[in-house]
Amino acid sequence: MSEPRNVVIIGSGPAGYTAALYAGRANLAPVVVEGMQPGGQLTITSDVENYPGYPEGVLGPQMMMDFRTQAERFGAEIKIGMVTNVDFSKRPFEITTEFETLFAHSIIISTGASARLLGLESEKKLMSTGGGVSACATCDGAFFPDKELVVIGGGDSAMEEANFLTRYAKKVTVIHRRDVWRASKIMHERAEKNPKIEFLVPYEVKDLLTGDDGKLRAAQLENTENGEITEFPCEGLFVAIGHVPNSKIFQGKVDMDESGYIQVHDGTFTSVEGVFAAGDISDKKYRQAITAAGMGCMAAIDAERWLEAQEG
Ligand code: NAP
Repeated sequence: MSEPRNVVIIGSGPAGYTAALYAGRANLAPVVVEGMQPGGQLTITSDVENYPGYPEGVLGPQMMMDFRTQAERFGAEIKIGMVTNVDFSKRPFEITTEFETLFAHSIIISTGASARLLGLESEKKLMSTGGGVSACATCDGAFFPDKELVVIGGGDSAMEEANFLTRYAKKVTVIHRRDVWRASKIMHERAEKNPKIEFLVPYEVKDLLTGDDGKLRAAQLENTENGEITEFPCEGLFVAIGHVPNSKIFQGKVDMDESGYIQVHDGTFTSVEGVFAAGDISDKKYRQAITAAGMGCMAAIDAERWLEAQEG
């Protein structure tokens, strides 16, 4: 058995790297297992303009590189690869990655969440090229001043995103696949009262169509009741059909809510003593880089104090 580490951090978005920075500065020599998408969701956005300290904005991937470098400066060891299994039933805890087995006295889970997407090839392409498709209004809404936008989804996220986008957009059309809204009454009513928001149901997106400039020009829609196909012109489209926490490997090992978010109490404590959670994996409400980073800091402090108490 290799020497157990003080803290192993699973996941490398703002929460994971901030936890590593704080644990490093506490002389805990943390290890970060980066996972499938080093840097997390921010690596698939372009400009980040809402993170304090960057008055001119910063590219998401660059910001994550900066977080990583800062954590390494204080002794964080970064390991590439995915965690494939964890054993929280005994201490030290066991973490199996694609390449090795690690042991740890404490663990911080910061594997984040991923936006649920429509799964279309055109969606993937337009998202990665800044072609007018996004899954985060807070991140990208400001890039669409005075445009005609579409939000896909019928839940609270869709209502919230639509409302937020009206700060910039000329008009926002919320397109939902059913004529029954999943959103709470209050959120739906707020959107209904907004003069810039219109609703279109029951339509499913079949494809996203691009113009000669390679940017989004329309959504191809199918009426889910009569199968009729139409084109809906738009200059930007936001997918707001929910998020999926990246918690599969922790199922049955730590308490989660019905959607798979890890439950925390008293800050970042999970149901397993010595295992902490931070960022979007345990937060379906705020989901911002700044809140994830804040939780990462909290988790490192919680782990440090918990480890200290074990020694005493
Ligand atoms: P959600 O409640 O699961 O709603 C997802 C919506 O997307 C549903 O209307 C669903 O349609 C639709 N959808 C799912 N897959 C789709 C697909 N492939 N194509 C087209 N449409 C699809 O997710 P959410 O809105 O992100 O909310 C998640 C949780 O966070 C909820 O508990 C919500 O209350 C909470 N939340 C709260 C706030 C707030 O209080 N400020 C804000 C945001 C979220 P169907 O209805 O047909 O299934």
